Amino acid sequence: MNVVVAKSAGFCWGVRRAVELARKTAASGATPVYTDGPLIHNEHMMRRLREAGVEECPDPAAIPAGATLIVRAHGISPERRRRLESLPIALIDATCPDVAKIQRIVRQAADGAATVLILGDPGHAEVVALLGCAGPRGRVVTSPQDVEALPSDLGNVCFVSQSTQPEATFEATAAAVTRRFPGASIVNTICHATRNRQGELDSLAEDCDAFVVVGSPASANTQRLAQLASRLKPTVVVDSADQLDPGDFAGVATVAVTAGASTPDFLIEAVTARLQTF
Ligand code: SF4
Repeated sequence: MNVVVAKSAGFCWGVRRAVELARKTAASGATPVYTDGPLIHNEHMMRRLREAGVEECPDPAAIPAGATLIVRAHGISPERRRRLESLPIALIDATCPDVAKIQRIVRQAADGAATVLILGDPGHAEVVALLGCAGPRGRVVTSPQDVEALPSDLGNVCFVSQSTQPEATFEATAAAVTRRFPGASIVNTICHATRNRQGELDSLAEDCDAFVVVGSPASANTQRLAQLASRLKPTVVVDSADQLDPGDFAGVATVAVTAGASTPDFLIEAVTARLQTF
């Protein structure tokens, strides 16, 4: 079986930056090093990080004075930042610059008294932080239907997106926003890495018979990528190479491998190597 690996598979630059920052901090002897929630939604990678001296912290107030806490690529709300900065710890900010840019857009819109509509997964850390930046003017929507159900007296409206939403969902929801709130400011804040990864699926689908998407069930962007891939070709989603079943690839001449932004290279390489034996 011919195996093709997507150029965009695996860590995006924001996640790679956060992981390297955490590793470097731990290696410099600044131990213990904690992360404000899981640094990455991948248990295999989290295990490696623990071995390197980086620990997930469920409650920053409980970590020892003098310890180092890393803010994840998803970013945090201004309120959480104030709380963390009040603790006797060293704070290292690994917020992805692309996320920081969305936060700035949201803050400016809310400061200008606009209602900020955020297309995103309710409860996702990036969306929670964006809502925090919008304050009482923020609302999360997930679809054009959500927009239709909004009250009409929202005043000026600014519409942005969580960085990892599908382009088609953004466009359909933006169209609904424009219909309901003519004059709304529409800012497509899907990041370049996400666009690339989702866009590459289309070109790969022209030459492959099936997709394998590598990533954790806990990773929203991996699951979304798998959904998009399955609309194009039969798709198998695995967390690791041992989950591959040769029976799923009967009659497949070429398989394309892609992976979510939180999937480390070592998992992609292991999956690719096993597929090559089928
Ligand atoms: S998915 Fe995009 S915004 Fe999110 S961390 Fe990666 S590069 Fe940054």
